[in-house]
Amino acid sequence: MSGFRENARRAACRQIGVVVLAAGGSSRMGEQKLLFELGGKSLVRRAVQTALDADIGRVCVVVGSDAARVVREVADLSVDIVENESWSEGQATSIRAGIRSMGDADAALVMVADQPFVTAGHLRALAHAYHAGEAAVYISAHAGRRGNPALFDAVVFDDLLALEGDQGARQLFGRYRAVDVEQGESVLFCDADDRASFASVRAKWVREKGSKKRFPLLADHDGGPGLAYLDSAATAQVPFCVLDAVEHFETRSRSNIHRGIYPLAERASDLYEHARADVARFFGIPENGAVFTHGATEALNLAVFGWAGANLKAGDLVFVDTAGHHANIVPWQMLAHQTGIELAFVDLDEHGLIDRARWHDLLERRPKAVALTHMSNVTGLSNDLASLTSEAHAAGAAVVADCAQSAGHMPLDFKSLGVDFAAVSAHKMYGPFGIGLLWAAPERIERMRPLLGGGGMIERVDTEGFMCVDAPSCFEAGTPDIAGAVGFSAACEFLGDIGLAAIEGRGAELCKRLLSGLAAIDGVQVVGGVAAGERSSIVSFVLDGVHPHDTAQALADDGVAVRAGKQCAMPLHNALGIAASVRASVGVYSDESDIDRLLAGIERTKGEFRLGKR
Ligand code: PMP
Repeated sequence: MSGFRENARRAACRQIGVVVLAAGGSSRMGEQKLLFELGGKSLVRRAVQTALDADIGRVCVVVGSDAARVVREVADLSVDIVENESWSEGQATSIRAGIRSMGDADAALVMVADQPFVTAGHLRALAHAYHAGEAAVYISAHAGRRGNPALFDAVVFDDLLALEGDQGARQLFGRYRAVDVEQGESVLFCDADDRASFASVRAKWVREKGSKKRFPLLADHDGGPGLAYLDSAATAQVPFCVLDAVEHFETRSRSNIHRGIYPLAERASDLYEHARADVARFFGIPENGAVFTHGATEALNLAVFGWAGANLKAGDLVFVDTAGHHANIVPWQMLAHQTGIELAFVDLDEHGLIDRARWHDLLERRPKAVALTHMSNVTGLSNDLASLTSEAHAAGAAVVADCAQSAGHMPLDFKSLGVDFAAVSAHKMYGPFGIGLLWAAPERIERMRPLLGGGGMIERVDTEGFMCVDAPSCFEAGTPDIAGAVGFSAACEFLGDIGLAAIEGRGAELCKRLLSGLAAIDGVQVVGGVAAGERSSIVSFVLDGVHPHDTAQALADDGVAVRAGKQCAMPLHNALGIAASVRASVGVYSDESDIDRLLAGIERTKGEFRLGKR
């Protein structure tokens, strides 16, 4: 019999149950630690999800301390709950409770919920080894180190039921023929069992999940130092998981949408609409306000011409953030030219943020709309968008927010920010080019007009006229970027898995390192000032006596990629009295070595230019 058929036969006749230990009863499992969050999910939910994703058997979760909260965490997942009333006596009591619930299973896979790096793939590898082999115990191993999870044949169950204390099932490893299943992940064993170890796991999590090895362009550098890519604000690199999602769509489901009725076309339509739902969930908004566009620029143009163009009239006042990207300035200027709306540029403070005192005065002029920037693509500083929005609303203005730089770098919930419109680009969020999103609040989207007419956006057309379908499809005429939407949703999943709060924290750490390094170099001026507040992804600077283009060129010679120029923000540069600047921007893959190479490059550049070597 071939190996494959043999395995299939064994798999068919050996039932495996999965026991997730989430009781938190042992001394090792500190108080409530299983509810710590990583990537927006509690560890216990993450572990249970991992067990379910492995798809290898019935899953039970053993709960003890804080049982009610743990049960709530997993209430929507298809698992059995096993209560362990003796949880305070140690982990062995939880293993006993789990094993008792296994019924006539042939084996039990036991995992503890405080090992967040264990994946469904690891669990499957254990199950495959069991199906193929004859041993009693299969243990996860990495580079000779053994740990959870482990899989036990039913012959071990009596001994598992006799366990005592906190050491768990490892007490049995020596007693049976035990096979190490090498799992090749350096971070597989990583306890997150108290606040301090959780904090270090969280830092490791961001570094591991966002590591350069997950990005094809950064992973492969032939043993050299590779590219220090510090231009993520222009475009973030794309991880394998996003490319895989796009390739999967292109090779298995490629078809046009909302047209054909054959299964392939239906699948493509479903994938596109699921992608919309995923992206909308990521930003905390309902799907019917989530319009796919080609990027932030198109999204802002749709808000300006589709909403303001249809609802504002000559003489209506619009405030525009002077620190804005041209994408949230030029469309307003074009509309002003066409319709006679009046524009006023909002004054900035010395950091390039909206000057709140002047802003309050200006609001007395009762604008109809304000165009705001969340995070500046130059200074990296963020306006307090929620409070600016509530003040703008109180003055009767709608808010069109450019969130292109905050998206993917910090937790972002458009609904709780309260903005009327928000624009983002997927390519700045580790997603594909050519796709972005406009969020339009319900009372605004109702009053928007489409900018493009054509297929996909009409209900009915006759020689007299046409009727549009409902939002958001009425704003998506023509064939959209279907693969792009699928990739956008994969990018949101990638970001959600790492966790936006953790990404923001890691970015702030790197920006702090960069800022303190810059402060130690003579003749460096940080755009927006050093002490102006936290930055989590962008720092721009000017080097005395060296043109930003020369700085960027010299850095490029060292393999450091930064942006230089006016960065599509000429009014901001004018307001701050600088001709141009150099911008360094980090992504999830950036690390200390990238920052240090940049700092060393600046020192070298400064030395060379001062000495007139160039
Ligand atoms: N707004 C901001 C703040 C940006 O940084 C950018 C990209 N540089 C845009 C809008 C425009 O994005 P896109 O080019 O993807 O349309």
